[in-house]
Amino acid sequence: MIYLDNAATTLLSPEALKAMSPFLKKKFGNPSSLHGLGREARAAIEKARERAAKFLNCSTEEVFFTGSATEADNLAIFGSAASHIITSVIEHPAVLEPIKNLEKSGEISATYLPVYKDGIVRVEDVKKALQPETALVSIMYANNEIGTIQPIAEIRKVLPAKIIFHTDAVQAANYLDCDVQKLGVDMLTLSSHKLYGPKGIGLLYIKKGAAIAPVMFGGHQEGGIRPGTENVAAIAGFGAAIAELAISKSQNIKIRVQRLRDKLIDDILTKIPGASLNGSLGARLPNNANISFDRVEGESILMALDQEGIAVSTGSACASGSLAPSYVLMALGMTHQRAHGSIRFSLSKYTTEAEINYVLKILPKVIERLRKLSPLK
Ligand code: PLP
Repeated sequence: MIYLDNAATTLLSPEALKAMSPFLKKKFGNPSSLHGLGREARAAIEKARERAAKFLNCSTEEVFFTGSATEADNLAIFGSAASHIITSVIEHPAVLEPIKNLEKSGEISATYLPVYKDGIVRVEDVKKALQPETALVSIMYANNEIGTIQPIAEIRKVLPAKIIFHTDAVQAANYLDCDVQKLGVDMLTLSSHKLYGPKGIGLLYIKKGAAIAPVMFGGHQEGGIRPGTENVAAIAGFGAAIAELAISKSQNIKIRVQRLRDKLIDDILTKIPGASLNGSLGARLPNNANISFDRVEGESILMALDQEGIAVSTGSACASGSLAPSYVLMALGMTHQRAHGSIRFSLSKYTTEAEINYVLKILPKVIERLRKLSPLK
């Protein structure tokens, strides 16, 4: 299988698996227990916390492990929401849905910033949307569908200090600098399974002094911010995966991935008529190519590529049976038809040139065949 769906999830790295293994076997203690087994589990969590703090350039007391990035985003929004929130129309549902929920219950009002054809939030728009009662701004670092990168550090500069600034850095972590001091954020979300760690574990960085209330109550774990017995093995794997990001940087993985991605985009756009790139090319994650193909359904392309052993994703959300086009693509101002004909290719550090060449050999034939069958004009 040629796996080009790394924005959905990534392969667990051998190092992450190795770090997890003891805690799934003999080292099964509860980290809150005071005996040796408990202390071993506690030490593993604290080691992972140190690795995360180093990556984020923050202190260990500012790192809170959660059951997923969805949970971390919910904690960030529900834990700090008051009066007025500014966000963007292309946030992940893990940010948008909590905000809509608060809006519906009348607890807050929200401003959803546009992103224009390039998929990028304008700093000027953030400035204009500010109200005296704005309490929270939540703008994602990089988008999961089109990979566009938002100007986080620049946005911070126009925000009054009292405003809490959250960014969902789930898609950004593999390729962009997540130094929270440089970004100037008060909260930042990461997900383990997007960076070669295990699923079901995320974290929220919360700047010391930021007034965040817990949304779950029970135990004292994670400083009471996220109660519940910790998933020790997953946290240890997450920590190991984070530690590897520094190695990826030194091995120039970003440059290699971007070269392969650029080859994929260039070849598709030159060889396949009626193909177009969605969102900015310049301010974009190096592993993302989101491309629309005229007169073909994204789902048909996905299924045909799957039969050829190539895993990709569509931009259109057909979960729950609805065939609504992707709200992210629609926010770029494109037609329903173009949004429906989109495919997201997302590469990883494991993607090879031979795999990209194979995709480039198969894809034009697939598109040609589907167009012949297509009722779309
Ligand atoms: N935020 C972004 C930008 C994502 O891409 C995802 C996953 O698709 C999430 C949040 C949710 O992450 P998790 O699967 O850890 O809940």
